[in-house]
Amino acid sequence: MITVQNLQKSYGGFQVLHNVSLTVARGEKIAILGPSGSGKSTLVRCFNRIEPHDAGTIVIDGTRVDQTIELTRLRCMVGLVFQNYNLFPHLSVLENCTLSPRVVKKIARAEAEDLAMNFLHRVNIADQAGKYPIQLSGGQQQRVAIARALCMQPSVMLFDEPTAALDPEAVSGVVDIIDGLAADAITTLCVTHDMGFARRIADRILFMDRGRILEDAPPETFFTQPRTDRAREFLSQML
Ligand code: ADP
Ligand code: MG
Repeated sequence: MITVQNLQKSYGGFQVLHNVSLTVARGEKIAILGPSGSGKSTLVRCFNRIEPHDAGTIVIDGTRVDQTIELTRLRCMVGLVFQNYNLFPHLSVLENCTLSPRVVKKIARAEAEDLAMNFLHRVNIADQAGKYPIQLSGGQQQRVAIARALCMQPSVMLFDEPTAALDPEAVSGVVDIIDGLAADAITTLCVTHDMGFARRIADRILFMDRGRILEDAPPETFFTQPRTDRAREFLSQML
């Protein structure tokens, strides 16, 4: 589903990603771990071209992500949910979910509303459809952000620290949602600092340090027998 080869990215003179290569199968659930500043957010942002990369290739579902790609099409294909949700404060929950399908995909209002209610049900927040973001808890806003991304019917979903502001019950809700995505063959990449969450969702763990992927392993291997000293040190600090 995703093939990345020798990805490089710098900000000014500072190289953030060094020759990152990876492949991800359709429906796989990947957790990306690593210290702050290791390039995790930059990597996932390159996938939907919020950040353009400098060298190397990214191919998603057969489409090469480069300067020639039509961004609206890419962003329909690859959904991104941020840590701080980024909901539109002046729009209701339902309107947050229908805006892009209507404007970008030109779907009629009634159809967009049906689609949105379907995804709001799926993330268990349909009863709040008429409210505004400020009237919801953090966990509820997170569900709306996920539903909003799903309304574009992406084949890849990127999450950047989705549980950072959530209580344990809301975290379990996100685990269930991500499991549901995999059942629908949606591929998930999730940047997280939450080791328990990573263990619960991931088929595979990528461990990054200073712009490189140092480990790529199933969770049981990564958490019990990390290969590198850097990962061992990182995990010991998390205990
Ligand atoms: P992580 O998500 O792993 O914490 P980031 O990908 O956010 O790491 O950042 C990696 C490095 O790139 C950090 O040193 C950060 O300061 C730098 N960086 C991130 N975004 C920018 C930017 N827009 N301009 C300049 N430097 C940036
Ligand atoms: Mg980050």
